[in-house]
Amino acid sequence: MQLNQIIRPDVLAMTAYKVVECPEDCLKLDAMESPYEYSDEMRAELAKQLAHTPIHLYPTPKAQGLPQMLRERVGIVEQADIVLGAGSDELIRLLTMLTGQPGSTMLTLEPSFVMYRVNAEFFGMKYVGVPLNEDFSLNLTAVLEAITTHQPQLIFIAYPNNPTGVPFAKTDVEQIIAAAPGLVVIDEAYGAFSSHTFLPEAGLSEKLVVLRTLSKIGFAGLRVGYAVGHPQVMHELRKVTPPYNMNQLSLTAAKFALQYPQFIDEHINKQKSERERMRTMLKTWSQVQVFPSEANFITMRVPDAQALWQAMLDHNILIKNLHGVHPLLEQCVRITVSKPEQNQLVLGVMQQLYGTQS
Ligand code: PMP
Repeated sequence: MQLNQIIRPDVLAMTAYKVVECPEDCLKLDAMESPYEYSDEMRAELAKQLAHTPIHLYPTPKAQGLPQMLRERVGIVEQADIVLGAGSDELIRLLTMLTGQPGSTMLTLEPSFVMYRVNAEFFGMKYVGVPLNEDFSLNLTAVLEAITTHQPQLIFIAYPNNPTGVPFAKTDVEQIIAAAPGLVVIDEAYGAFSSHTFLPEAGLSEKLVVLRTLSKIGFAGLRVGYAVGHPQVMHELRKVTPPYNMNQLSLTAAKFALQYPQFIDEHINKQKSERERMRTMLKTWSQVQVFPSEANFITMRVPDAQALWQAMLDHNILIKNLHGVHPLLEQCVRITVSKPEQNQLVLGVMQQLYGTQS
């Protein structure tokens, strides 16, 4: 069989989403996972609940009551509907599938989460990426102009943005939603670490869909994300959702997780205060340009991103080198905020490189 005669040429030309394997005992700070694990007591309790999960059955539409629990946790309006996904990644794909066909257009900001563009390509959509300003703030004029010119069916805005972490003014995003002719997906993967959210507005207009995930708040391994939106749009989204897309074990573990909100909130708050502590320290080094962050990571520009990436790896720490990902990310790296002692290791490596010369 000639693969190049069978498989789509655009797929053959693509590179797969790269997940870097961490060397053994490595401190993995490239993927915005939470560093906090359950205690032995909580593990034992979870194990009991997993043992009683009916894995011989498909999950039911009520998904063990998880949507209802999420509704209570994040506070959304009565009429809003929730669709679960295997990570918000799946929902990004499904929302693209909902609107994507040759001739339709996706608009996003650049740099942002790369999977928006990849999905646009999968579904033959025209892709319009509007560059952010150099300080990674949103260029509202450019976005509004692009909306007028391209009339996109689908807009993705990561709020806060990845890989920059920089928050956008809510009023700017509101203007984008008002001007949009189609769906606007506000991807709040990092929403828990920010003081701004569109969740209270989700469900009020057909245009707005808010995406959230459990991945960044402690449960990346569960692969549970959710879309909140207007019932009619969520009704259409269900049509493109594979049957039984969630698995029973993840649903059980996610429900368990939400029964302990204090575990989640305590660690979110710790990461938020560590983020500010790290940013304060980083700002004292003149060679480091640290950007504002409302997420669980910090993006910064350094004299030589590859050298910093290598220095970290030499200390068994894996960070993300963003240099080359997008022209605006020249010499930038992104580092997940971790536990205080681990953050100290990161700062220690940087101190060696930049501390003495300021
Ligand atoms: N949206 C954004 C902005 C992200 O950065 C990520 C993951 N890095 C995702 C969505 C996907 O998250 P998940 O599938 O784990 O929910």
